[in-house]
Amino acid sequence: MQLSQRITGITGGGSDGWDVFYKARRMIAEGENVIELTIGEHDIRTDPVILAAMDRSARGGHTGYAMVPGTQALRESVAARIQDRTGVPTTFENILITPGGQAALFAAHAATCNTGDRALYIDPYYATYPGTIRGIGAEPVVVRTHASDAFQPRAEDIAAEASKGAASLLINSPNNPTGTVYSAETLEGIAEVCREHDLWLISDEVYDTQVWEGEHISPRSLPNMADRTLVVGSMSKSHAMTGSRVGWICGPKEVISHLINLATHTTYGVPGFIQDAAAFAIDQGPDLEDGVAAPFRRRREIAREILADQNTVGLIPAQGAMYLMLDVRATGLSGEAFANSLLDTHKIATMPGESFGTAAHGHVRVAMTVDDERFAKALKTLVDHAQTLAK
Ligand code: PMP
Repeated sequence: MQLSQRITGITGGGSDGWDVFYKARRMIAEGENVIELTIGEHDIRTDPVILAAMDRSARGGHTGYAMVPGTQALRESVAARIQDRTGVPTTFENILITPGGQAALFAAHAATCNTGDRALYIDPYYATYPGTIRGIGAEPVVVRTHASDAFQPRAEDIAAEASKGAASLLINSPNNPTGTVYSAETLEGIAEVCREHDLWLISDEVYDTQVWEGEHISPRSLPNMADRTLVVGSMSKSHAMTGSRVGWICGPKEVISHLINLATHTTYGVPGFIQDAAAFAIDQGPDLEDGVAAPFRRRREIAREILADQNTVGLIPAQGAMYLMLDVRATGLSGEAFANSLLDTHKIATMPGESFGTAAHGHVRVAMTVDDERFAKALKTLVDHAQTLAK
């Protein structure tokens, strides 16, 4: 039996740069003591007060079908949070609750791209981006950034691809994997290209609470952008609720009304007790969010100290998110070869820059997701290892 090209083509074939990750997982399964600095998951769990709200809701009977667009309470809490943070008037009608940011990324592309349309995204990129675009039948088209620009995209590079025809542009700030926070200048340039080439802008803002330097600007707040921007948000990173699978799309009412039809025919909504817990969590305000972000803020400082007195390993200014992008080109190795050698020699697992496209070759991404002491030890070992190789 033949499977559809849509489904067999999602991954695009070829090596996906995740070999080091799977090797680390195998070593752990075989009982080895590997320090895992690979994926973006907090070392803390969901706060007990949020779990208590989830428990109250489920025991109170909210275990049946919930409203497909999201509960009124959660849609309103998300809208209020967005309006507070960006100043853009936002109501519940601008919000669709989704099972996580990933489902929102899929829905946003489904809403904006026809089959075969070119959909732009920025390299380095979060691993699922090209597959998400292929999954809705569009063609992923990459726009490269450069380590020498600290991975800020250049408007002229986006315009060059947009001028060949494109339906959408997907951006992500604070950025996974680079930790870059897009500057006002970068975002204004991007907004200009979107207006000029009539592009939908899909803005993945799942790391919006993890900003260590500069400020997070949502491009939906820029002039004439609210009616062409779809913002992707999530409780995963801001509230350490990765496993609860709850996120949202914020966009024009008309787009949301169509996306409610998509939700009806795919997910049929998000569990009510999860949504009640999410609304409770958002209503606790920024203190809870700051507490969840605090360990990464602290570890970034630890990393800056460790990396200060040497010049073998370069740190791309980590302005946000839970990752560091380290330039290891002085070792003469690719990111993948370096990550393999660090894993084999010292049992420290990192992600090769090559896992995220071509722009971050010769780099490794370090997730700041183990306790401070192990993190500091692992990073010192990484630097020593790079210095030994560079000799
Ligand atoms: N966007 C980015 C940039 C991410 O790093 C992730 C998760 N690692 C997501 C979206 C999706 O997150 P979730 O589905 O858990 O909300």
